[in-house]
Parts: sequence; structure tokens; C-alpha cells
Amino acid sequence: MEGHNVFSVPNATTPYCDILIIGAGLSGVATAYHLLDDNPSPPSIVILETRQVCPGATGRNGGHLMRVHAHIEKVTKEAGPEAAKELSQFQASQVHAMKRVAEKEKLDCDALLTWYLETSVSQPQADEQRKVYENQVENNLDFIGDINYIQPKYVEEISGVKGAKGGLTATALQLWPYKFVTCLLARLIERSSINAQTHTRVTSISQCKDGFSIASTPRGSIRAKKVVYATNGYTSGHLPEFAKKIVPVKVTCSHISTPKGSANPPPHLNHTYGLSYEPLGTRDYLIPRPDGTVICGGARNTTLIEPARAHFETIMQKNFIGWEDSGAHVDYLWTGTDGWPHCGQVPSREKHYILAGYNVAGMPLIFLTAKGIAKMIRDDVPFESTSIPKIFKTTEEHLKKDVTS
Ligand SMILES: Cc1cc2nc3c(=O)[nH]c(=O)nc-3n(C[C@H](O)[C@H](O)[C@H](O)COP(=O)(O)OP(=O)(O)OC[C@H]3O[C@@H](n4cnc5c(N)ncnc54)[C@H](O)[C@@H]3O)c2cc1C
Repeated sequence: MEGHNVFSVPNATTPYCDILIIGAGLSGVATAYHLLDDNPSPPSIVILETRQVCPGATGRNGGHLMRVHAHIEKVTKEAGPEAAKELSQFQASQVHAMKRVAEKEKLDCDALLTWYLETSVSQPQADEQRKVYENQVENNLDFIGDINYIQPKYVEEISGVKGAKGGLTATALQLWPYKFVTCLLARLIERSSINAQTHTRVTSISQCKDGFSIASTPRGSIRAKKVVYATNGYTSGHLPEFAKKIVPVKVTCSHISTPKGSANPPPHLNHTYGLSYEPLGTRDYLIPRPDGTVICGGARNTTLIEPARAHFETIMQKNFIGWEDSGAHVDYLWTGTDGWPHCGQVPSREKHYILAGYNVAGMPLIFLTAKGIAKMIRDDVPFESTSIPKIFKTTEEHLKKDVTS
């Protein structure tokens, strides 16, 4: 997808836009959407992307939006229950905000509100899960109203997961992220002042004395009033201060199907799943597609693609009641990289903004984070005037801390 060429011809004056967004994944395209949505004086926006539209983590992920219990627990421990409440409400509102925009913009992206079952097949994991749930009830985290703790004696039957020892349910959204982003960008191009240039890698950004920034690419340069880095794991290429903060991690995902026309098809899974095993922290997630196939991600205990294939090849047969003789097999396997969120104005770089690094769970965070960044740019307001959780604010202090978070 390429718009008209905005780049300079030799000796022409360097072209210009109000806002330059680097990266055409969900972060970049959602920021553009919120900058333009319901805006009577829309800014001129250029998106530059190294490869084709949505080639990074967004185009590779399973499309599962839900509250990440482990993150809420981590934030409760590190920043207290108020911060955890802010994060959990933010994640919950994301589910509904993305569903609404998919409907409003008629995005053909298989968006479906669903019930998410976080199940544990190991007793220590189930005990930990129960402890986390009880802590959250004790801390009066008000999102808890949307969560069911399933009594252990019923978990196997309700979830269909063999030998399940513990389970929680919550509202979730499943969708096809690549389609969501490409359809949304197409809508924006149809109706507004946006120009997307693919195969155009930003090689450097310089800030000029007149307050403008100049981005250089192999196709020429462009001047911009404001710059948004939506560059995920690649951020430190331009902002070296983030090198130890946004650290890419490898994630693997698979598409599993069963033989067509089988006399004994396995039961359709009506929910999305998290599946936790031993050792503690080992977890996969599954999103059944309407056609009966399953997207399964995780395999974080394996770092190479072939061991991950072996893991996914038997996951349905081993774990789901009625799938033993299904012949389920992996027909695609892919990988990608993704770290923790840093959002807001880039410290010491006026008019430069960032939203990047989501610790492999960007889907329940990005859309409304992008809304917050767009608000900062549109209304010229500080981070605190947005609804982005405070723990995501990027600051000098945060950057100087000697930890990767
Ligand atoms: C295999 C896999 C499965 C996942 N599953 C889930 C899931 O089920 N649920 C969930 O919540 N999260 C999941 N995630 C994480 C989620 O996909 C990410 O958090 C999210 O997509 C990040 O979106 P983004 O737009 O910030 O980054 P990206 O989609 O990576 O986009 C960044 C873009 O910036 C471009 N770029 C970088 N540098 C430059 C440059 N110099 N010039 C031009 N362009 C540049 C890149 O090419 C890229 O397209 C998964 C990730 C992977 C890899």
C-alpha cells in the first residue's frame, strides 16, 4: 500500500507533514486513527514503514485481548493496588473499544467478544492462580466483578481441558490483528489526509533549531512538526536510551487444523484459553477460529522453531477432551519479537512521542494507549491528562533505572 510520493526530488524543497509516524503496526495505525477521528481540523500525517503494512509483531500475533492476570499481580506487588486497578480497567476498556471501532468502521477482522478461560493443569499453578485471585478480591480490585473463579471440581468439565486443576474466566475479544490494521489504514486513506509509505525505512531523525524534525530514508527526507515512534522492538535503533528498556523477546505462534471431512471431528472450542503447566510460568494461549482451526501461541520454554512445532503438534490431543484422535496438526508456524511499555513524550526530545514495548501482550494495551498519545499531540496536554496507566509513562528516571522494565 503506497500513497503518492511525498519524498523530495533532487533540489526540491524537503516535503513536510504535521505528524510523522514511524511504524505501521497496531501502535502506528491506531495513533493515526485517533489523531484523525472526529477531528474537524485533521493534521497531515505520514506513516513510514520499513516493510509492507503490518509486517511486525502485530501481523504475527494470535489476536487475543484479555486482562493479563500475571501483569496485574506484578503491578500490585511493584506499584500497589491503585496502579493495578488502573491497569486492569484500562485493559478491560480496550476490549470494548476495539470491538466498537471494528463495528463502527466495518473492519472485516473476525472480531468476536468471547469468554476467556485461564486454566492450570498443574496443582502448583492452580494453587498460585487461586492465591492471585484471592489477593485481588482482598485488594478490592473492582475488575474482579468480571472474573469467575471456577471451583476445582468443575474446571475439567467447564473448560474441556483434561486434568485441569484450576480455572478463571473473564470477558475477552478475539480478532485477526493483521486484518484489523490493514482495514483501518485503508479506511483512513480513503477519507483523510494520511499518506502511508511502505518499504521506506527511517535511517535517522534529527531535530532542527527551528523546532522541526527531519527524518531521512533511502527514498529521501521529510520534515515534520511532531514525530511518533511506534517502532516496538526496533526502537533503540533511533532512541539508544531505550536499548536496555525495550528488549525484544522471541515469541512463537502456530495455526492448527484437523483433517477435512473427518468422520470424527473434534468438538468446537467455544472459548479462548490460557493453559498453564509446570514449571511455574510456562503457558500457552489458544484462540479457536470460526472455521474450527486453532491459533496457538506460547511455547516460551522452547527457543527454537522446530521444538516449538513439536510442542504445538500434540497440544490439542494432550490437553483437550474429545481431541485425542482428531489428527490435529500444525500447518503454519511463525515467530516474531516483542518487551514492557514505554509511552508518552520522549525525555529530552521535545515533540517526539513514543508508544512501544508491550511484553508480549500489546493487544489489550495499544489501542487506548494510542488514543492517549493522540490526545497529547492533538490537545498539547501532558501524559497525566490521558487515561494511559501511570506506570507506562516513560521518564528520565525510568530510563536510568538499572532494570529491564
Ligand atoms: C508471534 C507473536 C504472538 C503474539 N500474540 C499476542 C497475543 O495473542 N495477544 C497479545 O496481546 N499480544 C501478542 N503479541 C504481542 C503483540 O503482537 C505486540 O505487542 C503488538 O503487535 C505490538 O504492536 P506495535 O505496533 O507496537 O509493533 P509492531 O507490530 O512490531 O510494529 C512496529 C513496526 O515498526 C516498523 N519499524 C521499526 N523501525 C522502523 C524504521 N526505522 N522505519 C520504518 N519502520 C520501522 C516495523 O517494521 C514494524 O512494522 C504477540 C507477538 C508475537 C511476535
